[in-house]
This record gives sequence, C-alpha cells and structure tokens, in this order.
Amino acid sequence: MQKIIIIKYGELSTKKDNIGYFLNTLKNNIKEVLIDEEVNISLDIGRMFIEVQEESIPKVVAKLKKIFGIHEIIVGYKDLDFTLDALKENTLKLLEAKDFKTFKINTKRSNKKYPYKSMELNNLIGSYILDNKKVKVDVLNPEVIFNIEIRQKEILYYDMKIKGLGGYPVGTLGKGLLMLSGGIDSPVAGFLAAKRGIMLEAIYFESPPHTSENAKNKVLALATILSEYSAKIKVHIVNFTAIQEAILKNIPNDYLITIMRRMMYRISEQIALKNKCLVLINGESIGQVASQTLTSMNCINAVVNMPVIRPVACYDKLQIIDMAKNIGSYETSILPYEDCCTVFVPQHPVINPSLKKACEYEKLIDYEALIKEAILNEEIIYVPLKEEAKYQDIL
Ligand code: ATP
Ligand code: MG
Repeated sequence: MQKIIIIKYGELSTKKDNIGYFLNTLKNNIKEVLIDEEVNISLDIGRMFIEVQEESIPKVVAKLKKIFGIHEIIVGYKDLDFTLDALKENTLKLLEAKDFKTFKINTKRSNKKYPYKSMELNNLIGSYILDNKKVKVDVLNPEVIFNIEIRQKEILYYDMKIKGLGGYPVGTLGKGLLMLSGGIDSPVAGFLAAKRGIMLEAIYFESPPHTSENAKNKVLALATILSEYSAKIKVHIVNFTAIQEAILKNIPNDYLITIMRRMMYRISEQIALKNKCLVLINGESIGQVASQTLTSMNCINAVVNMPVIRPVACYDKLQIIDMAKNIGSYETSILPYEDCCTVFVPQHPVINPSLKKACEYEKLIDYEALIKEAILNEEIIYVPLKEEAKYQDIL
C-alpha cells in the first residue's frame, strides 16, 4: 500500500463541458503551490491523486487547504492488489493502528466488473475485522467509517476526510482588480472573489507624506496573505497625494469622500483595462459608512463602466471580522497604520450625494491630468516577495 493524498472536486464536477479546463487549472495551481516539493499529480475521473514523500504529507495538506476548487482532501492508501484477501488484510492492518469501539465499512465499486458487490464486500470485510479485533459494527453512528473504493486501476482505502475551501480554481474566471486598503473588509472581499475563480491584481492608493511607509507595508503584507490563496499578486501602488490635496483645497467638505472615491474608481478602471482585468472588486459594505449608502454607491459607481463586485456588500461587520480571522488577515488589518481615507475624513460627509453636484464640483479640479500623472507614476510590486520581505518587519 502506498500512502497518498486524494483530492475531490465537489462543485467542479458540475462543469460538464469545461471540466477539462477547470481541472487543468486546478492541477497547475496545485503544482505552483507545491513547487518546492517533489510531487507527482495525476488526474482521474472525479479524483486527483497527489503522491509525495510520506513525511511531507502534513505540510502539503496544509497548503492544499488554501487552494480553491478543492472540496475534500483525503489522506489515504492506494493498492494494486484486487484480491479479496488483500482487501481484508489491508483493511485490518489500517484499522489495527486505530483506537475505536464501533465502525462500519463503506465500499464503493466504480469498477462494475469487480466480482463482489459493495454490500457483499461490506459484509465480508466487516466480518473479517470482527473476527480479528475487539470492536462492534454500528451502521447508524459509528466512530470510524472506513471507506474502500474499488476503482478501475487501483483500490483506495481511507477514513479521514478534510474539508477543502470549495469554490473554483483561481484563474478559471479571468482576472479582477481588487481595491485593497489596509482595512478589514477589502482582504475578505479579495478572498471571496478568488474563491469564485477570479485571479487577483490589487491596487492601493497611498498619500505620502500623509500616509506612512508602514501603511503601505501593511497593505503589501495583506496582499501576501491573499497570495497564499490565489497566486502571485501584482500590486499597483498609486500615489494619490496630488489628487487628494486638490480635492481638499477645492471641494466642499461634505463631498470630499464622494469625489475622492470617484477618483479612485476612475483610476482603478483605467489600470484594470490596461492589465486585462475584467472587473473591479472592493470591500464596500452597504450602509457601513456615508460613502456606502445606496445613493453614494450610485454617485460613485457612475464614473466607471466596468462591473464592480462587492463581495461583502451584504455581510454585517461582525461576519466580515469572523471571515478575516479565518482567512488570517485580521491581525494584520487591525494594525494601527493610517489609511489615505482616514487622514482626510470630513466631519459630516454627505450621506445622499447628488450626482449633479458631484459633477459640478469636480469641474473645479483638472482631474484628468492629475489622474494621468498618477497612473504614469504607479509603482508595481509583486507579492510574495522572493527576498526577505521588508514589510514583514512591521508584523
Ligand atoms: P476596509 O476595511 O476594507 O478598509 P472600510 O470599511 O475602511 O474598508 P472605506 O475606507 O470606505 O471602507 O473603503 C471601502 C473600500 O474602498 C475598501 O474596502 C477598499 O476596497 C476601497 N479602498 C478604500 N481605501 C482604499 C485605498 N487607500 N486603496 C485602495 N482601495 C481603497
Ligand atoms: Mg478602508
């Protein structure tokens, strides 16, 4: 018997015509994540097999738990001996190492030519275990469900299943540009978008010297956390200082945030188009702040044509926090470094901005030139960084 990792795809198996594309992407994503391991990955109907050195299995499983498109991860055994004696002996051997009182055998026979039916095998192998180990069968609520799969080319044995993340393999649905601030919401939004198969690029607006190097490093640290679930992430860092100062100087105080966000959207759309991203993604949540009322969203969204996906739009803050904790981004998100929005927060931001007024006010600044300049001077950083990451110093 050989100890191996078996992957089940779940929702993916519903993708009839495109299944080959989805599975190959999944396989490539797995290969990329396991680049430092000596692995052999093979695809079969309904299953993927990953062969690695036995001592690497826990490390590999930990990495697989962060890959979208995997429904279940099973650490089991593969054997090529199809005889009934081998089935009995192998099952006994694997169960002998376990401490339990009740069990049941659950056989699946996808190889319909195999001379014994599943029920017969359950009985024959179950009886053999009862003869050799002091345990009982409990079909309703057993401590151990021992699975045996009789497949075309091999027999699989396993009793432990680990839940995968589900979703679609990253990249199968194209690319999106995530507006990534240093807050709690946008990393969660990025995670949820990646879960639906969207490959992420990220954009961060900084306003030095009003925002610090630490704030930028925090965003890069968050992008690095997200990259564990997706792939290498291209982060666009856009200097927003000139635009923000022009807004502060010329725009009535209550419209500062509205106009600022319209500028962010415009820049994001242009960078998305240039980089073949099909959608914008952000962490807006309905009603959370003045700029996230439905009227505000209309007024801000009006400057772009590209679809804007807001994965956390309908979640409560506490739910978003829970997700952030599960993803592993929360601790970084709550580090105290300032965001460019918080630096310029007005006392009374307009809750129901008028589109007409927003357009009028904007005429007071030569924003097209400023936007062009900002895009021209963007800085690009790919995460994860290869060398010792500077931004990790702040963690
Ligand atoms: P978060 O917790 O994600 O920072 P928030 O509750 O602070 O969100 P806002 O500051 O209003 O809410 O921002 C809403 C969304 O706009 C963010 O989730 C993010 O997607 C985007 N955003 C805000 N500030 C920036 C920034 N400096 N760079 C890039 N995107 C930003
Ligand atoms: Mg924010």
